[in-house]
Amino acid sequence: MSDYVTVARDGAIAVITLDNPPVNALSHHLREPIFKALEVVRDDAAIEGIVIACAGRTFISGADITEFGTPKALASPSLPELCALLESLPKPAVAAIHGTALGGGLELALACHYRVADKGAKVGLPEVKLGLLPGAGGTVRLPRLVGPEKAVAMIVSGNPINASAALEAGVVDAIAAGELTADAIAFAKARVADGGPHVPVRDRDDKIAPARADLSGFEAAVKEATRKTRGLEAPLACATAVRNAVTLPFDEALKKERELFIGLVNGVQSRAQRHLFFAEREAAKVPGVSKDVQPRAVKKVGVIGAGTMGGGIAMSFVNGGYPVTILEMSDEALDRGFATIEKNYGISVSRGSLSEEAKAERMGRFSRTTNYADLADCDLIIEAVFEEMGVKKEVFGKLDAIAKPGSILASNTSYLDVNEIAASTGRPQDVVGLHFFSPANVMRLLEIVRGDKTAPDVLLTALNVARKIGKVPVVVGVCHGFVGNRMLGARSAEGEDLLLEGASPEQIDKVFADFGWPMGPFEMGDLAGLDIGWRNRKSLGKTAAIGDALCEAGRFGQKTGKGFYLYEQGARKPIPDPEVAKLIEEKARERGVNRRDISDDEITERTLYPMINEGARILEEKIAARPSDIDIVWTNGYGFPIGKGGPMFWADTEGLKKIVERLEYWHGKTGKDVFKPAALLKQMAEDGGSFSGRPAA
Ligand code: NAD
Repeated sequence: MSDYVTVARDGAIAVITLDNPPVNALSHHLREPIFKALEVVRDDAAIEGIVIACAGRTFISGADITEFGTPKALASPSLPELCALLESLPKPAVAAIHGTALGGGLELALACHYRVADKGAKVGLPEVKLGLLPGAGGTVRLPRLVGPEKAVAMIVSGNPINASAALEAGVVDAIAAGELTADAIAFAKARVADGGPHVPVRDRDDKIAPARADLSGFEAAVKEATRKTRGLEAPLACATAVRNAVTLPFDEALKKERELFIGLVNGVQSRAQRHLFFAEREAAKVPGVSKDVQPRAVKKVGVIGAGTMGGGIAMSFVNGGYPVTILEMSDEALDRGFATIEKNYGISVSRGSLSEEAKAERMGRFSRTTNYADLADCDLIIEAVFEEMGVKKEVFGKLDAIAKPGSILASNTSYLDVNEIAASTGRPQDVVGLHFFSPANVMRLLEIVRGDKTAPDVLLTALNVARKIGKVPVVVGVCHGFVGNRMLGARSAEGEDLLLEGASPEQIDKVFADFGWPMGPFEMGDLAGLDIGWRNRKSLGKTAAIGDALCEAGRFGQKTGKGFYLYEQGARKPIPDPEVAKLIEEKARERGVNRRDISDDEITERTLYPMINEGARILEEKIAARPSDIDIVWTNGYGFPIGKGGPMFWADTEGLKKIVERLEYWHGKTGKDVFKPAALLKQMAEDGGSFSGRPAA
């Protein structure tokens, strides 16, 4: 029929095979020939049943998301039109699913009368992860197969389920015992032989009738599924659409689903989430790493330091299947480190996310040593010792002496100069920064710090290994704090002054929470421990009026029950403390600061705008290759709300002109460097440019 769709016959069964590499995305050029093929087989009286199968490594893995928001997405035949035709066929249609049937792919399969899956197949509706809902009947058909409670859990989480779970839930009707297409053809023949009726999913009512009579079970499932949606619209819209599937007739629910979909697809949150989806893929393209660069083999990993970071980093690699040797200064330090690792795995076991056997197997992948020679055969060695240049240099000197040629030597430093660390070895081309975030076994971001001399194959290897252990890698350049911590510094610079001038910790934290951050800076400080910054300031000869005073009074945050807030015994909920308010007033008086009302807008301007400004400087200096890399750092490492797309995407929606005007205002008023607009930012504002390449807001 076309390059993308072929039709073959097996007796009275027509086998329609789709072939749109790499993942059979439902682009317009695929939908069109599918539609034609369905019309032909519908009208061919010799055909009694239909199998829809896919060539290549997977069934349809989704809509073509490059079409989203463009006229092509809606061009006829649209996916809803295709599903309607499929569902109206007077002969049974069977989807033969291998690989993944995701999003629009599963929606098309749901419009078939039956589904047969390969045993390794996975099915799901992940649209919510792009700020959307399934817009081609998924929210209306899935509940009819699996019941609304299960459907809302699947659609709101967006997580796929495997073939056996899909069979149990009722998404698929059979799992192929042998070759999938042959089994699907046999299944279709058997249904034809049964003589029907072949009830289309739209006409099935048995799974939704109970909820229609009593919605309480469904509402409880909605509550559970939408517990952590943090200001995102899509999860709530998904739940609304599934509720409509129960309470409204099929066609009305379908129409409402479409309206909700169109609202979301044109909204800023979905644009932001789709931006992040592409940004993550874009981050893998690193200037200077050409296609012919080959990665180095990494089979064995060494970690130096079994503290907070070393332990978490080692766990990440062990979880990713690598054997890991941890080196420490003493057996006692090793004992401490391993006790924490064991405790962390124990928590996973008690939560049911890890079995005892898996825990034992993972613990068995670690070895321990105090002797550098034991790291000689490691392909990658990551240092996570104290943050002091002298200590780092000593460690890298030792590594240089023992590591085999070609071994990659990495530092987890948060701020230090990776070039200086590299220069302490005779092989700077093999040295790279691998900046993990705490807790390292949980946080997905990895800043890969490229030194002046880091070899392209070292960068490529780091990117590959990062993905193998489930991280989101971003390559950044050398500067104090790299991308994330450097911008965090700019964000935090005004915190104390805002307090002295009249804001309260709770007001500032609320502005952050309303913005969509998981928590504000003072709550965060209390959680991390205020003593860390205090000690750091002391070592640098710096001070912070309020932070220092709190620490001098023994208020280190949650761990001491008080910090910027009060905490009840063992609780994490921050309670505003009048004593802190008094302390802030005292410090303001001492400094002759006149306190006044501070507006929420002022808080945003003085904390987030400097961060954007620093991001622009980072781009000017080519520390980040592109604005979207910065967005990936902040959404994966620092809790920047994904519905806002990361700081640089958000800056566009806020308006660069406005940001520059307000930075100039604050610079004029305070003379502080954080407010001095970066040349790039000024230029872009003048030219009407934008970080995301979209027309300026
Ligand atoms: P930590 O104090 O918890 O752990 C450091 C460990 O290194 C200790 O167990 C210590 O015994 C060991 N150590 C020190 N010198 C050593 C040596 N010469 N040989 C072998 N072992 C040695 O510190 P941490 O928080 O894990 O930080 C480690 C590194 O990670 C630092 O560079 C830090 O800046 C960086 N980092 C920390 C975080 C964080 O949130 N804690 C986040 C990212 C990066």
